[in-house]
Amino acid sequence: MTELSKNSEYKIISNAEIDSEKLQRAEKIITDLQISMPLYTKNGSGPFVAAVYDKNGNLLVQTSNSVVIDNCSHNHAEMNAIKEVQKKLGTYDLSLYELSLYITAEPCMMCIGAILWSGIKEVYFGVPSSTVEKITGFDEGFKPEWLEEFKKRGITVYGNIEPELGEKALLQYVNSGNKIYKPERKN
Ligand SMILES: [Zn+2]
Repeated sequence: MTELSKNSEYKIISNAEIDSEKLQRAEKIITDLQISMPLYTKNGSGPFVAAVYDKNGNLLVQTSNSVVIDNCSHNHAEMNAIKEVQKKLGTYDLSLYELSLYITAEPCMMCIGAILWSGIKEVYFGVPSSTVEKITGFDEGFKPEWLEEFKKRGITVYGNIEPELGEKALLQYVNSGNKIYKPERKN
């Protein structure tokens, strides 16, 4: 686990050596995704956005969470992004394409599985799950040592990218009275 101090404001979490060029690109993309959030939430989507880029830095797809508007519990932003890019490229195995997935927040336990089976090679996320749960009340599931498990499978992860911006976007979602969706449970 690598932790890099970032202007003494926040620390990047990673399972690899930090490449500053990749990090700078990720900061820009994730900032843009956070800024785009209201476009999705005003239509009942969100509050999570994901994008897939190819190895040359070209945007292939950008999607949001659409659980509520689609009435589908697995339509998280990452799931929608993977589904769209596989359809676009005509393959269920993205591993030959060296694609990068950018997400406004850390993937939940379902999306971690989906990323693993998709062939995505690099994952960059904004707000960590602990912050998402604290601010919104969404349940992110249990994810033991997922960064290490991804490393074993050759998938690079950088996280906690521009977290303050992500926190603001989530707070805005909650403060606007939007839906926090999850199945009912006793505890
Ligand atoms: Zn998810």
